[in-house]
Amino acid sequence: MEYKLTFDQYQKGLDRGEFLGLRCNACDTFTFPPLGTCRNCSGTDLEVTRLSGQGILRTFTVIRVAPEGMNPPYVVAMVELEEGAWVIGNLVDINPDDADMTLIGKKVRLGSQMVKGDIFSACDSRVITFSLIAN
Ligand SMILES: [Zn+2]
Repeated sequence: MEYKLTFDQYQKGLDRGEFLGLRCNACDTFTFPPLGTCRNCSGTDLEVTRLSGQGILRTFTVIRVAPEGMNPPYVVAMVELEEGAWVIGNLVDINPDDADMTLIGKKVRLGSQMVKGDIFSACDSRVITFSLIAN
């Protein structure tokens, strides 16, 4: 199976500040982060597309007991992108102790940060971050 957008291409996009995803030509659904098939219809007629990098924070949790190598506390959030895909990442630029339910529904901008490879991953890689957009 041919991947329209490889992990390496996705990572290089993040390096440039671009959020590369896939748009399905069969059902017009956006898949992000990229997968081998459409997240809606499992179709493979996909086009690489650059996403807006903005969305709405839908839910989050504050991690206080973290896996080895991580530094708690930190906030893990799920964001619904303007294009409809949901993505998980770390909410940065806030004090985790100030995180409360008023965060739900706030606009965020995507970013990324490099994390070192550890016992849970194969190599250093970029992960998605979110920052609140001032209203
Ligand atoms: Zn589809």
